[in-house]
Amino acid sequence: MKPSLDKLQKFFRLEAEREYDNRAVLGGLENMLPSWQAEARADNLDEVLVNTVTTQLRDYAQLNGGQRSEALKGLWLRIQHATGMNENGIGAPQTKATRRKAKLQIKKPVPVLQRVKVKAHPYKPAKVRIPKRNKTKAEPAALDARVTSLNGVGPVNAARLEKLGIQSLRDMLYHFPRRYDDYSHLATIRHLEYGQEVTVIGKVKSVANRSAGKGRKNLTEVIIDDDSAALRAAWFNQPWMAKNFHEGDQLVLSGTVEQFQGRFTLNNPGWELLDEEQLHTNRIVPVYPLTAQMGQRWLRVLMSKVVSYWAPRIPELLPTGLIQSAQLLPLSEALQQAHFPDSQELLKAARQRLAFDELFLLQLAVLQQKKAWQGIAARRFEAPSDWLQAQVAQLPFQLTKAQSNVLRDLIKDLASGRPMNRLLQGDVGSGKTVMAALCMALVAREGAQSALMAPTSILAEQHYATLQELWVRPGSALHPEELRLIVGATPQEEKQAIRHGLQSGAIKIVVGTHALIEDPILFSELEMVVIDEQHRFGVGQRAALRAKGNSPHLLVMTATPIPRSLALTLYGDLNLSVIDELPPGRQEVPTHILLPHERQRAYGLIRKEVEAGRQAFIIYPLIEENENNQVKAAVQEYKRLQTEIFPNMKVVLLHGRLSAEEKDESMGRFRDGKAQILVSTTVIEVGIDVPNATVMLIEGANRFGLAQLHQLRGRVGRGGEKSYCILIPEHDEAAENERLKALTETNDGFLLAERDLEQRGPGQFLGRQQSGFSDLRLASLSDARLIDKARRHAEELLAGDPDLSQPEHHALAAALQETWSDGQGDLS
Ligand code: ADP
Ligand code: MG
Repeated sequence: MKPSLDKLQKFFRLEAEREYDNRAVLGGLENMLPSWQAEARADNLDEVLVNTVTTQLRDYAQLNGGQRSEALKGLWLRIQHATGMNENGIGAPQTKATRRKAKLQIKKPVPVLQRVKVKAHPYKPAKVRIPKRNKTKAEPAALDARVTSLNGVGPVNAARLEKLGIQSLRDMLYHFPRRYDDYSHLATIRHLEYGQEVTVIGKVKSVANRSAGKGRKNLTEVIIDDDSAALRAAWFNQPWMAKNFHEGDQLVLSGTVEQFQGRFTLNNPGWELLDEEQLHTNRIVPVYPLTAQMGQRWLRVLMSKVVSYWAPRIPELLPTGLIQSAQLLPLSEALQQAHFPDSQELLKAARQRLAFDELFLLQLAVLQQKKAWQGIAARRFEAPSDWLQAQVAQLPFQLTKAQSNVLRDLIKDLASGRPMNRLLQGDVGSGKTVMAALCMALVAREGAQSALMAPTSILAEQHYATLQELWVRPGSALHPEELRLIVGATPQEEKQAIRHGLQSGAIKIVVGTHALIEDPILFSELEMVVIDEQHRFGVGQRAALRAKGNSPHLLVMTATPIPRSLALTLYGDLNLSVIDELPPGRQEVPTHILLPHERQRAYGLIRKEVEAGRQAFIIYPLIEENENNQVKAAVQEYKRLQTEIFPNMKVVLLHGRLSAEEKDESMGRFRDGKAQILVSTTVIEVGIDVPNATVMLIEGANRFGLAQLHQLRGRVGRGGEKSYCILIPEHDEAAENERLKALTETNDGFLLAERDLEQRGPGQFLGRQQSGFSDLRLASLSDARLIDKARRHAEELLAGDPDLSQPEHHALAAALQETWSDGQGDLS
């Protein structure tokens, strides 16, 4: 039988079982018509048949019991006749066997949501209570059943649900509302106030359909009365609405109080008849994320079925002791309350519990990872103090106090006999590179190898040049051939030589880009791995480089300042060091927002600075003009700037689509002072060090994130000269942008990061690559208290049961396995 007919048959049978009360489908049989029609057409059902079913069922609600039974039986006969089926009645009572079968297929009628009692007025919030654990037997496997096992969900709807990431019943339970409309405040009509969100109950006095307004719109008007006063409700252009209401019905309406011709009215309110379970009104109503051609009401009804039946049956994830000590709602209760909350308090508690689960699993994963690493042995590198002093003394500058502290951490790690696993954070320009350089020198001193990986070839070259200056001088640590650079553009022969040198051990330090892991490079003795700008790499890439050694020491560096709470969550498997001080002589970079029509002032400033021998960056957000927006394209602007604005100066262009040689060429000319102005997209964001540059002009500034803007600004103010950062948004209104303002107020990257986290959430700290963290749906990484709680409890739990081998931790172990399998557990 075609799925659409199969479904129809099921509904008809269910109706018969329920003695034709029109409750087989929530809201009445006609409610399923739109989705059924779509399915029937997808099934290639004869259009005449589709029409017959539609016209017959449309008025089903109006019929009395006997007429309903006649109607369905007659309809089914016609269907059988038209399709040539000759068995499969609809009225016959099911045998026990068929029921059991239906149950196994989860196609049994799911009990409707618990009836919510209409609360007495005034509304009193329920006390948060921790209900007893649910005794219902868990059926974990059934939860993985596809959504098509639900009544009312055929292939068409399943495809729509899949667009929301929902495939299984479990997915449905974890598809949370994006907001809630609180209609739990039951009001008397007499006491309504303009603008209130209310639920009222009253008796239907009249129902009318009429044309109204200039466009001769259809208006369905219902007047209800609750003995205190009468109230008008109106629906527009939904003439079929009128059929839902009959004089004398007790009707529940939820909506916002508006005014029409001096009287209060509810426009397009949510509605329900009083004797139905209350799903769309008179409660805190969930509002779900939807996809095209999916109705809110439809999904809500489906959700209520799934939640009321399956939430009580979901196995608890956390051990009882933890639920109690952490004062959490049981999972079943939390899921029910997160979808159909009984009160704001329970809703909050529910979301807390679910957020806790997410963070708790994350912490367990991170802590287990950390422990795994701590159990590994690594080669010891001890730095004799006179050697270290000599190295530090020969640096072209004095280390800041913060750098000295960090160096102490690093030296200790290297001598510990356990692999270093350290995240080094430091604002732009705080001097992280030299920290890595000292570690690598120490490793090279004992004949072992180090690799430093940077996200761009420009940056890799810069590091290479820095290391050469430091360590490849007469009398210093390395011979020229012991330090090499490998990037994508390195000629094949040279690559071959480098591979050879690394495999033989002749090369002690190699600096490079992804080429380091993409190339079939083998090391003879890789003991130290440094990852610069680590957020630019995926976990897989970092792991790949580390895997080239035998548990080497790992130092990852980032200039994206991460607030401490976040760092602990995300990188809790790493130890954390912070350089919280800039080298002396660094200047704040005054930052100004200019409106687009004030652009000439920015050009004037650049001209003045260049004439004084300095250089300037001009940054654009995109490389090509997009017809949908007015963003200036770097390519086009470059031409205009060179010919019209700065004809006497040398302008060069840098963007991501240039070949490596072209990039090198542009960058090289700018670095060597042969060009005065560098027009670029954000490829220069990371790490470029040109101390002579004093102006950073950012076009389309409203398109950048705060952290990114701060990084860009960090490209200037690196020399002794006073520097400037100018932000030009796309249009005047964008000048009000909070991020831009924040930037003009402070140069402190950590402060900006905290603000960015508040404003935009943690998304920007977590690249696409850190996919594990995007699984956080309810938890907010800015909720430091909950993170802390999750971490404490995770530590406690692991202290008692490090491998999660106790029976009551099995569910956790399984969830952990599922969430963090396929290498995702490598969080660094
Ligand atoms: P980042 O932390 O952004 O990677 P770098 O390591 O590139 O910063 O350092 C920025 C600049 O500061 C470099 O030119 C570096 O030589 C210089 N520098 C680093 N430490 C000091 C210091 N203690 N005193 C003066 N200059 C320093
Ligand atoms: Mg750097």
